[in-house]
Amino acid sequence: MSLRRRLQDEPKTVTSHIGGRFVAAAGKPIDIVDPANEAVVAVLHEADDAEVDRAVSVARNAFENGQWRTATTAQRQAALMAIHDCILENAAELAELESVDTGIPLSQTRGMHVPRAAYNFRFFAETINQSGGDVFTQEQGILSMVTHEPIGVCGLIGPWNMPLGLTAMKIAGALAFGNTCVVKPSELTPLTVARLVELVSGLLPEGVLNLVNGRGHITGAALVSHPRIDMVSFTGGTETGRAILAALAEGIKLPAMELGGKSASIVFADADIDYALNGALLGSFMNNGQMCLAGSRIFVQRAVAEQFIERFAQRTGRMAVGDPLVEETEIGPMINGAQCERMLHYAESGAKQGATLLTGGRLHQASNRGFFAEPTAMLAPDNDLAICREEIFGPFATLQIFDEEDEVIAKANDSDFGLVGYVWTEGLERGLRVSSALRTGTVMVNTPIVRDLRTGFGGYKMSGLGREGAKGSRAMFTEEKATIIARGKRQFPHMGLNG
Ligand code: NDP
Repeated sequence: MSLRRRLQDEPKTVTSHIGGRFVAAAGKPIDIVDPANEAVVAVLHEADDAEVDRAVSVARNAFENGQWRTATTAQRQAALMAIHDCILENAAELAELESVDTGIPLSQTRGMHVPRAAYNFRFFAETINQSGGDVFTQEQGILSMVTHEPIGVCGLIGPWNMPLGLTAMKIAGALAFGNTCVVKPSELTPLTVARLVELVSGLLPEGVLNLVNGRGHITGAALVSHPRIDMVSFTGGTETGRAILAALAEGIKLPAMELGGKSASIVFADADIDYALNGALLGSFMNNGQMCLAGSRIFVQRAVAEQFIERFAQRTGRMAVGDPLVEETEIGPMINGAQCERMLHYAESGAKQGATLLTGGRLHQASNRGFFAEPTAMLAPDNDLAICREEIFGPFATLQIFDEEDEVIAKANDSDFGLVGYVWTEGLERGLRVSSALRTGTVMVNTPIVRDLRTGFGGYKMSGLGREGAKGSRAMFTEEKATIIARGKRQFPHMGLNG
């Protein structure tokens, strides 16, 4: 029997996992729904303030009195690699579970998200081996030594659009640098992170990795305002990020914020157009378009605009929409009905503001259950329309035509967000020039959606604070300490007259 069928027959119970075991189901029950057919596949029991407090206390005790913080690099590496292996051993189950929970096509969860979740642990196992400090010398034999110490108990809050991969990145980074943590996934998609914690908690000392489940404004808010956590690493929407920042300001805690985006994808006339078309489609519609780094604000230079836009619309209209567990599916359901409605509302408002609907803009006609919308493309007359400014977070691309390089750079930068920019050109010099002009944390030239964990990922402007990646994650998950050592006795200036 398939995993989906088993979950429908007997919905999974999801509770917090504290100190190495799931707690008894007690909190408010919340149904978790398969977005492809609206069947209940799990019931989550929400953690309240007291349960969050228990999770933080266990994590705090494991940090202060346990051995993880002081474990050798080799010991931590061994544990991280064991988690990596465990994810790969359970990859088929995790991929199917992720697709049932999120609606992301299985080809993507299996081909990308689960391998990436595993790789995060291997990457950080390797990173800590190379992650040294600094030593400076001064006159009179003073040695200044910079080391990086674990920051403490980390609150790790993940979004619903790529729960396993994005949350695994946070867990791997926090653990690698010697911290303990309390993880809170989105209440909409809690299944794979809960399964991950269940699978791997025996590979770590007790209390190092803890999980709480529940809605953001209840469980999430209790976690970020808890006085005994030391930092929060958050991935999610800008509005939520603002609320979390306010909560952290109270305790002078460090935030790391990976927030929303509205990334420009600029197609110059000198690009390889077939290649740019494939890249722009993937960059807009992968993960059902529910991607922070979606390059779905597409600018096309006039000389190639007509044919590019026509082909983009045709290909978008022909995409295979359907059950994420079917191999051929390219676009699965959106996460819930509200998100579907929201996207359709953008299509309507775009049309009212003067944009032309090229394809889509309605519910998927062939599906009578589930949250399916047709992938949508609109031609926008200018950058001021809401569809060009606000993050839609669904399979929805806007296309605009431009003439000059300076003009398109100004338009690309005319955004509250600054996560990623995409540039399509055969001219390396142009690629570098435009990259340096774009106000975004990452620029991808002639490729969609590549992450290299050795580089930091994060945003300018309202797209976030801090960077996730080798150095960025170390900055986020450690305190920097300077130890100043005098070698030999120094000559001090006299302070007391009678000394
Ligand atoms: P949300 O901001 O709605 O939620 C993110 C997480 O925060 C969820 O776990 C949510 O819980 C929780 N949360 C909500 N309110 C609070 C609160 N007051 N205190 C603490 N936690 C809270 O984002 P989405 O889940 O809707 O994810 C989509 C957003 O994430 C998009 O804007 C997208 O761009 C962004 N994102 C950014 C990425 C990046 O790397 N920059 C990557 C991926 C996504 P719950 O859902 O249970 O309410």
